[in-house]
Amino acid sequence: MILEQLGIPSELVITRALREHEEAKLLEVVEIRPDGREHLLEPVATAAWRDLKKSALDAGVSLFIVSAFRSIERQTEIIQRKFATGLSIPEILAVSAPPCFSQHQTGCAVDVGTPGCPALEVKFEDTPAFSWLTQNARYYGVEMSYPHRNANGYEYEPWHWCHVNRSTAGVGG
Ligand SMILES: [Zn+2]
Repeated sequence: MILEQLGIPSELVITRALREHEEAKLLEVVEIRPDGREHLLEPVATAAWRDLKKSALDAGVSLFIVSAFRSIERQTEIIQRKFATGLSIPEILAVSAPPCFSQHQTGCAVDVGTPGCPALEVKFEDTPAFSWLTQNARYYGVEMSYPHRNANGYEYEPWHWCHVNRSTAGVGG
């Protein structure tokens, strides 16, 4: 199994209550980056993100996607690259999910950016974008996955939001 290959103890997955996720099978282009790369989400999340983004813009808040769907293969590369820089497993897994356990592979999760704020930084919480999301994202079925002291033991990620299937809402991971 991939965790063993990476040297990630399976107990860690249990103690942190990490959930294994299926890789999205059906994906749509939801946004295209200025450099031409495409951001992909599964169709229901794509529709939700478009509605949410338009509504935010109507309120004067500009949102864009920093990262959306990632494959298990890509997540594995990210973890391997971090190992190669000498980071320990706890250091890596405080901020990154093990392959097969990332919400990004479901095609439902996005890392959100807003103009004037560096991507993937906690100061995102000080932006009008974050305030708007906090008040309105739920109406689009979108929730912040990793608040302070989240059950999965990830560091606080105010930029990471996920379209939640009602049947799995509140389960986490
Ligand atoms: Zn994320």
